[in-house]
Amino acid sequence: MLTRREFIRTAALFALAPRILAPREREIWINDVHSQLNRTRVRELLMPRTREELAEIVRSASRKGLPISVSGCRHSMGGQQFATDSICIDTRPLARVISFDQERGLIEAEGGVQWPKLIRTYLDAQQENAKQWGIAQKQTGADTFTLGGSLSSNVHGRGLAMKPLISNIESFTLINADGKSVRCSRDENNELFRVAIGGYGLFGLIDSVTLRLVPRQKLRRVVEIIHAGDLPKRFEERIAQEFLYGDFQFSVDEKSPDFLQRGVFSCYQPIDEHDPIVAEKKLRNDDWLDLLRLAYTDREKAFKYYSDYYLSTNGQTYWSDTSQLSAYLPNYAKKLREQIGGEESSLIITEIYVPRTDLPDFLAQAAKLLRSNRTIVIYGTVRLIEKDDESFLAWAKESYACIIFNLLTLHKLDGIKASARSFRCLIDLAIARGGSYYLTYHKFAKPEQLIACYPQFKQFLNLKRKYDPTERFQSEWYRYYRNLFAS
Ligand SMILES: Cc1cc2nc3c(=O)[nH]c(=O)nc-3n(C[C@H](O)[C@H](O)[C@H](O)COP(=O)(O)OP(=O)(O)OC[C@H]3O[C@@H](n4cnc5c(N)ncnc54)[C@H](O)[C@@H]3O)c2cc1C
Repeated sequence: MLTRREFIRTAALFALAPRILAPREREIWINDVHSQLNRTRVRELLMPRTREELAEIVRSASRKGLPISVSGCRHSMGGQQFATDSICIDTRPLARVISFDQERGLIEAEGGVQWPKLIRTYLDAQQENAKQWGIAQKQTGADTFTLGGSLSSNVHGRGLAMKPLISNIESFTLINADGKSVRCSRDENNELFRVAIGGYGLFGLIDSVTLRLVPRQKLRRVVEIIHAGDLPKRFEERIAQEFLYGDFQFSVDEKSPDFLQRGVFSCYQPIDEHDPIVAEKKLRNDDWLDLLRLAYTDREKAFKYYSDYYLSTNGQTYWSDTSQLSAYLPNYAKKLREQIGGEESSLIITEIYVPRTDLPDFLAQAAKLLRSNRTIVIYGTVRLIEKDDESFLAWAKESYACIIFNLLTLHKLDGIKASARSFRCLIDLAIARGGSYYLTYHKFAKPEQLIACYPQFKQFLNLKRKYDPTERFQSEWYRYYRNLFAS
């Protein structure tokens, strides 16, 4: 007779084996969440629950010569997390917080953990402490991102003087193509550390990450409506006044002279630790949907709604970490279509980088360009990034201003082509100013744009083959660039 523990273990092993070995009974299709434009058929979709299961999946795929793709919460939009006919590993069940060193502010968690769980765990652990630790940064606009996916894109938040996430990483362990665990840090396997962060899952599966936390602080939100022309100076002033976070959310009303020119400038200033936290007004999921609906149907009203709301929160106080959490509706496109009808559509994001002094001119040219291309911007924001001098495929090559555009994209060939054209034009505007773009959101850039912004890309592919000569880890994104360089 099996004990309960033995029974669970045996059941888990049996559950795992057929999922690896069973021939395909039905086709499995998966897609990205935000744009829904990367539908891909995979051979298997596996959800390992332990490191051992994970390593066994990798070894089994190696024995059979099958490619593996690695997915987190599927927010990337260039096919980075899927490969046709690959074994796709969904990392989300690998979500344990492993340890929390409260002396040094180091937290270790599995790669599939998402930000809300990570934050909740360290908050619970230090409830009684006068001095608490918190994350320095995470993505804005949604919370359902895995730590592994965040590392692999080397993400950033809205810090006014922060480098990308690599600056907050102490170390990680990665399961390589042989199924072996490799520890990477600045002192151990440094090259792999630098190339796997921002390496889009091509060097192995990041199974645990040790993140450096920073002291949690109380902050006051200070909101103004300002003009883009003043933005470089105002950002500088806020940094000199020791504000920690901030962004500029611009008008998306293409019929108004304010289009990309006026915006809500919200920055966050540290306050006394004894001040109370008072943040009564908050946008909830339904408010976001209302706002999105307005942005689709009446962008003048949308900006008014948004700026009125933000101005009404001027002076609210927040914690530095939880203030970075935000609402997101994964099925926003479907819900909107139910409300307003119209053709099938969704949003594709792009993020463009320009030297900070070029920001007003870039925004003015971008407004002209988007108007003449009849492109609809649903949401857009400007943030800052400090130069990343560590990751191999660094997107923050300089201390740039980051301009983010969410473009409405119709799900038909012409609609996708139109958005792709606008993205390429925006990248050209950036390149003309010594700027760049983010690889996470699409692969619409022309080859010469890719090379201009990422001259090290060929070397990046060589490093991929150095660490993974059998190309065990693949994605649609990788195959596209590999073939591009091969030809
Ligand atoms: C609404 C929205 C808002 C966003 N806001 C921001 C933002 O503010 N700042 C920013 O920088 N980015 C932002 N992004 C982009 C987002 O941060 C990245 O797409 C991120 O990779 C998503 O994490 P994920 O868990 O969804 O990863 P996925 O999209 O599933 O995967 C992303 C990449 O990571 C790899 N990967 C995933 N898990 C692992 C693992 N354990 N080991 C190795 N590789 C792995 C995948 O193979 C893939 O290459 C935003 C995206 C959306 C849709």
